[in-house]
Amino acid sequence: MKTETILNALEAKHPGENEFLQAVKEVLLSIEDVYNEHPEFEKAAIVERLVEPDRIFSFKVPWVDDSGKVQVNLGYRVQFNNAIGPYKGGIRFHASVNLSTLKFLGFEQTFKNALTTLPMGGGKGGSDFSIRGKSNAEVMRFCQAFILELWRHIGPDTDVPAGDIGVGTREIGYMYGMYKKLARENTGTFTGKGLEYGGSLVRPEATGFGGIYFVVNMLKEKGLDLKGKTIAVSGFGNVAWGAALKATQLGGKVVTISGPDGYVYDPDGISGEKIDYMLELRATGEDVVEPYAKKYGVEFFPGKRPWQQKVDVALPCAIQNELDENDAKTLVANGVTCVAEISNMGCTAEAVDYFVEKGVLFAPGKAVNAGGVATSGLEMSQNAMHLQWTEAEVDEKLHHIMNSIHEQCVIYGKQKNGYINYVKGANVAGFMKVARAMMAQGIV
Ligand code: GLU
Repeated sequence: MKTETILNALEAKHPGENEFLQAVKEVLLSIEDVYNEHPEFEKAAIVERLVEPDRIFSFKVPWVDDSGKVQVNLGYRVQFNNAIGPYKGGIRFHASVNLSTLKFLGFEQTFKNALTTLPMGGGKGGSDFSIRGKSNAEVMRFCQAFILELWRHIGPDTDVPAGDIGVGTREIGYMYGMYKKLARENTGTFTGKGLEYGGSLVRPEATGFGGIYFVVNMLKEKGLDLKGKTIAVSGFGNVAWGAALKATQLGGKVVTISGPDGYVYDPDGISGEKIDYMLELRATGEDVVEPYAKKYGVEFFPGKRPWQQKVDVALPCAIQNELDENDAKTLVANGVTCVAEISNMGCTAEAVDYFVEKGVLFAPGKAVNAGGVATSGLEMSQNAMHLQWTEAEVDEKLHHIMNSIHEQCVIYGKQKNGYINYVKGANVAGFMKVARAMMAQGIV
């Protein structure tokens, strides 16, 4: 494969889409060897077809705020690849959202969804709208305006959106309500729905729970256990909450959470009602964690990231590129054992290279956080069958899926010296499935 040529061509076509180019580069470098073993892939231009989304919808979202002022945001849906199933992936509402963000997320989602073992293609959507400081009525009006445009492009067998940063059960409810009204059907074209109207048990916890199941597998591979391990978590939203909850249940001690304002360090561990308090904090819509420090009398580090603390396990749970090379060096110098991205592409490319070079257990978001979308897949199954599985049934399936993803990473990522390169493993396993599906379906 002419990796360099492909990357240069992509950069020339899409200048400035840095996150997207970063995600593509990581995958292409990982798959180079297997790609070269399959000349039929090159002949069918699999990579050239894979790095361009099938299509992108880009639209304006006008809405009226509480003061009567007209606001205009940008809305997008990137339908990346549907070789193995309907487009599937979340919607992100965050001021930083642009096409580069959503293309990188859609690209990652394609491989992540392939790893889940379920028939789902990759997609992603979102807006530069931020829920921060917005009233409930404003959030509702925005969600409705967003769907007024998007509804015609989605459907239970074409494209199934879900939540992501800034989009939780409330936002899904408002979007689904409007979608249902316009589409005149109730087939579950959204996941992460409320339990009363087709949502799945365990979906809110799934990304964090799945991430911890994956980490347990990583540690087990080395003969280690999560029990007694000190854990740094970043973020304080749904993903961080689920991870803290499961890690604590399994005997780990979570000592940090963070927000855009800084991080809190709680040496006694964030457990019990403190984990419930994370949900309260999130519900304020203020996007700050400092109140936690005040409430529990612990230290707050303004403007800093939790990676400066000495921990055994580091779990980025907030946003892309939230852990850089300097952070990686600090963590390694402090003796970190395992780093697992529960956020999508939580580490910069340099940080990832550093962990791999140092032989630290490291796994990428597309493997570690796949439990969220996997449980979305289980929600789709339940909707299609018009029934609801119990909590134990969903959790067992999630557990099984995370074990299977770990196994795929080991099969494709184990190096001659025994080190498991999870980045390579996840990328090759995901790629092979998508590539085979594309080969089977011809040039479409
Ligand atoms: N936004 C989540 C992710 O990055 C979940 C997507 C979904 O459930 O469709 O995988």
